[in-house]
Amino acid sequence: MCMKKYFVCFIVLLCVFPLKAQTNPEPCGYMQEVEKILKKQPNFLTWQNAMIQSAMSEYADLQSAKRRIVADTLFYQIPVVFHVLYNDSLNENINISYIYSQLEELNLAFRKMTADTQRIRPVFKDIAADVRIQFVLANKDPDGNPTTGITRTYTTKTTFATNIYGAYNDDMKYTGRGGKSAWNPTRYLNIWTCNMRFPNQVSMTLGFATPPTGAPNWWGNVTKDSTDIESGVVLHYSIVGRDNPLAISNNVEGKTAIHEVGHYLGLRHVWGDGNTQTGCTVDDGIFDTPNSRTRNYSCNKTSPPNSCIDAVNDLPDQTENYMDYSLDGCAAMFTKQQAYLMRYVLNNFRTGLPYREITHDTVFDNTSIEMYPNPLRHGQDLKLQISSPDKKQFTVQIIDISGKQLLRQTVNSNTVEAVSISGLANSVYFVIISDTDNRVLERKKLLIL
Ligand SMILES: [Zn+2]
Repeated sequence: MCMKKYFVCFIVLLCVFPLKAQTNPEPCGYMQEVEKILKKQPNFLTWQNAMIQSAMSEYADLQSAKRRIVADTLFYQIPVVFHVLYNDSLNENINISYIYSQLEELNLAFRKMTADTQRIRPVFKDIAADVRIQFVLANKDPDGNPTTGITRTYTTKTTFATNIYGAYNDDMKYTGRGGKSAWNPTRYLNIWTCNMRFPNQVSMTLGFATPPTGAPNWWGNVTKDSTDIESGVVLHYSIVGRDNPLAISNNVEGKTAIHEVGHYLGLRHVWGDGNTQTGCTVDDGIFDTPNSRTRNYSCNKTSPPNSCIDAVNDLPDQTENYMDYSLDGCAAMFTKQQAYLMRYVLNNFRTGLPYREITHDTVFDNTSIEMYPNPLRHGQDLKLQISSPDKKQFTVQIIDISGKQLLRQTVNSNTVEAVSISGLANSVYFVIISDTDNRVLERKKLLIL
């Protein structure tokens, strides 16, 4: 028996999963999700950094051009399905009222309408954002049948956690493994609620979410990430909703779901997931979240932390941010740049997910579109003529009926532009035409014969 081997394993486990997790809940399994993706896609962090940088550079361009930031008139409405998994029907088969109250908390947070915004210190008030993303229970299932947007499934599994250090499996996402398989993850935000308690312990992992991957235009010849069927958010059953009487004392505000949806829409933790030594050199890529050395578990109102001194415009740790660990009692905001990134993810990577509501914008009053021929036959190009007195360029996206973006092209206005559809199968598509600020001008159906 090689004791040395076990000792090494023990040390490795200590490094990966801190011992404190035995007695304290693990707030978020985000880094475990990242580790899983890295095993399949070693370039994931490079891609993620480039994606965030691209969004931030777009944001900076818009700002320098003095255009409106988060510059469109779209509200995004994301259909959500809750998959409730229960072994203990009394507690884990959660009451619908907690699901309703969780959705309400999500919606208030993403509209900056929660009363908790009074927690935001003056230094951050101006950068707190109305993200203008809303969440609704799906009213049609993937087959088009009416639904409540909630599934309830008995499971023989008493927990989906696998050790006392915060690890878990993904069985909750597979019907054949004691869970419930996702509804089409390109069309729904799947949220599983289940038992995540560490085996034979009182603590648990509160939640986790999958970051965006596998975008159609993922570069480097990396194929679509098969983990997409695991895409979504998982919540420990007792912290769903606000004032859930089963929740542990520090998790009664329903903030975990907000934090996890932030990850799902591309946000990283505000401290950048560095350790206490390297923390001030590791950032989340977002400029308006001040650098912080490590996670904060509270906001310490009498002595607020400022764990990294920034060379320019030194600001305290933004413990009000939903992407820190200081959730209950502190968290109350996403920043403008975080909001921009989440909307960027919806426009570029999770494109089929939201319903985009076009609110009338006078900026398009003098704009008209001609698109022809429709139906379109192979060998023909789609022709677009956008007449606009003040806008030189527009973006054309073609998405399929499952919502996947198949083509994205910039076209000039006031001329006839050709869009090549070679490579698209005979089917029905949607053509989305937006301006360079992502304001949707038109969404037209296109038939390719
Ligand atoms: Zn997290």
